Amino acid sequence: MPEQIFDVIVVGTGTGGSSLGALSARAGLKTLILEKNPRVGGACSYYEKDGFHVDFGTHLCTRGGEGSVGEVLKRVGALSRVEFVKPRQLMRVLGLGLDVPFYTSIRTVFKTIYNFQHQVGITWREYPSMFRLNRDFFLMDEDKIAEWDNKTVEELVSKHSLNPSLHAFINAMMALYFVYPYWKTSAGEAIWCTKRMMESKAFSYPKGGTVMVPRVMLDAAQERGATLLTQARVRKIQVENGVARGVELEDGRKFRGRAVVSTSSLKDTVFNLVGAGHFPEDFRERVQRLQESHNAIQIKLALDRKIIQDGCLVVMGSPRGNFTPRTATLPRVRQVYEDLLSGRMPELVPLYLVAPTNFDPELAPPGKQFITLCTGVSLTTTKLQDPPEVWEEAMMKILREAIPGIEGHILWKEVVGPKAIESWIGKPGGPAISTAQVPGQVGQERPSNRGPLPGLYFAGDQAGGRGVGTELAALSALECAEILDSDFRSGQISKNNEK
Ligand SMILES: Cc1cc2nc3c(=O)[nH]c(=O)nc-3n(C[C@H](O)[C@H](O)[C@H](O)COP(=O)(O)OP(=O)(O)OC[C@H]3O[C@@H](n4cnc5c(N)ncnc54)[C@H](O)[C@@H]3O)c2cc1C
Repeated sequence: MPEQIFDVIVVGTGTGGSSLGALSARAGLKTLILEKNPRVGGACSYYEKDGFHVDFGTHLCTRGGEGSVGEVLKRVGALSRVEFVKPRQLMRVLGLGLDVPFYTSIRTVFKTIYNFQHQVGITWREYPSMFRLNRDFFLMDEDKIAEWDNKTVEELVSKHSLNPSLHAFINAMMALYFVYPYWKTSAGEAIWCTKRMMESKAFSYPKGGTVMVPRVMLDAAQERGATLLTQARVRKIQVENGVARGVELEDGRKFRGRAVVSTSSLKDTVFNLVGAGHFPEDFRERVQRLQESHNAIQIKLALDRKIIQDGCLVVMGSPRGNFTPRTATLPRVRQVYEDLLSGRMPELVPLYLVAPTNFDPELAPPGKQFITLCTGVSLTTTKLQDPPEVWEEAMMKILREAIPGIEGHILWKEVVGPKAIESWIGKPGGPAISTAQVPGQVGQERPSNRGPLPGLYFAGDQAGGRGVGTELAALSALECAEILDSDFRSGQISKNNEK
């Protein structure tokens, strides 16, 4: 088959790849989008079982149509094709004696804070410091946020309070948004994301499943002439004379491209797809040192009727029954994630529970409910010291304690473990965020979208951008599209001359 020449070749169809593909096609560039899986969407993909639509990994969009995801959809004229359904409340925290609803409205923020502080045992004397902590999270000036980029959330919280329950709660929230512990997560990134999430009040779930976001973007790309190939695994990004010139697929097909954009992880792109020898040593070393976030373990549950009323819950549980908010100490809070990192079941497990059918009942047969339980676990490169069955049993125990009687309504249960995620998204280890949002890897210091070889670019959650998960990947694509545009305009990449 003769080689075809494209302006831009995009590897991957997650939020990053589908956003970039759509933006590139809209810019009039001849675009090829390649996906190794039979279905598009990456972490936002899905499968079907017995009439239930099952989101593979990602569920909620922290800024719906208002943030970077919305901006991409708007730019490619497809925003109206995705309906973002908002929950009645942001989330509810249950378990270990807590029951705190969190609302999106700024008017109810004080009620939420009061409820939470009262239940975790924060005294009146601590209220002024709580106020200052909340002010930092919700109202910090933009230029001041950057000053916190290279400090951790733990440093920020400790500046105001050493209350262990508060630390445990914030640790659980950071795990939810950044899939990493709070003593590693960048405070600047956390504030940036929290502030925008609260401002946009658009926390939501896409009707039709999370895959609707990448699917609609890919439709828009194809309408503007892009070519999309699934079951097209890129084996190599081809480099000639130090310039990225195209890709070779596992089945032997080859495509020439003036620019190649990878949306896998930087480690995969550099060490597997391109080959370490093509990169300068300092770049290789930096990529080698990059921290990835954790992976996740999920239990998918089909229920015979609607049992859970909330769209999104955080269920805190202690598998061995030895952790309560009031007996927490700071070292014990830290130990939770030390255990998690080494693949051991911790004494406190925060479960993230989403009920997609509460946002879109059509994702299940009439009257039935579907829920996903999720918690962070180490990457597949760390052997789980407690086997998957122990995790599964602990997660189910926490669920049974928080929602008594749920067991009798389970039609079927399926575990999506770390290896399944790794194999689906193709990023070694299966990180939820492939370049973790830690000091030294956010803001000015985030790896650039422009690779060190001419013609090679990075998008998705590995380089550029800010935000939570899909927001991060979409902003990265917006930034990458701008760089591509500038490189084509300046002649750094030639659109007309064949390579
Ligand atoms: C289990 C889980 C739950 C999450 N929950 C949320 C959530 O609720 N909300 C949120 O905002 N974020 C969430 N995230 C994070 C968010 O999904 C990701 O940060 C974001 O979607 C990443 O987008 P991406 O385009 O960078 O990569 P991905 O979505 O991972 O897509 C990468 C794509 O590249 C393809 N690919 C890789 N290698 C090749 C190759 N060699 N050839 C061809 N194709 C290739 C893969 O098949 C995949 O389709 C979650 C992540 C996980 C794993």
